[in-house]
Amino acid sequence: MGHSKKFPHCLPWDFASRTLLTKPGSSYNEVGISLMSEDYSRLLDKAMEKVPKKVSSGERFEIPTPEMHTTGGRTTIYNFGEISGRLNRDGHHLVKFLTKEMGTAGTLSGGRAVFQGRFNKISIRRLLEIYSHKYVICSICGRPDTKMQKDGRFLFLVCDACGAKSSVLSA
Ligand SMILES: [Zn+2]
Repeated sequence: MGHSKKFPHCLPWDFASRTLLTKPGSSYNEVGISLMSEDYSRLLDKAMEKVPKKVSSGERFEIPTPEMHTTGGRTTIYNFGEISGRLNRDGHHLVKFLTKEMGTAGTLSGGRAVFQGRFNKISIRRLLEIYSHKYVICSICGRPDTKMQKDGRFLFLVCDACGAKSSVLSA
């Protein structure tokens, strides 16, 4: 019965402090609340500063349409830099993927990529989609806010949005 003996001792003190804090018109209470909401709105501002970048790259994620031209057995993608920039990947990695998939050779210079052979827009677009699903979009949350991380022989996709780390087959 030690508990019931202790409890009455605690109660008056606890009760008194609680009435003090919740007393109407208590300046402590008002200051406490206003400080808290100011902190909260500041935190919210900070959070919002960060969010738009991620949301804009996420919600509006769309691979730019390749602006391309084929002449004399070579296919040039003029906005290749824009495409790899949107995918947030190194252009050389993307060129390597495309050349491998298309079974051809390709070079990257000044934001343009030139591939040996004639390729149409539809097949390039499809390959870009395959690339983004393999190397850009998080398989857990479906967002593109990821980065590639090499760990020994293994390649991982690390998601900034949900924190997932998934392995990727090396290209
Ligand atoms: Zn994710």
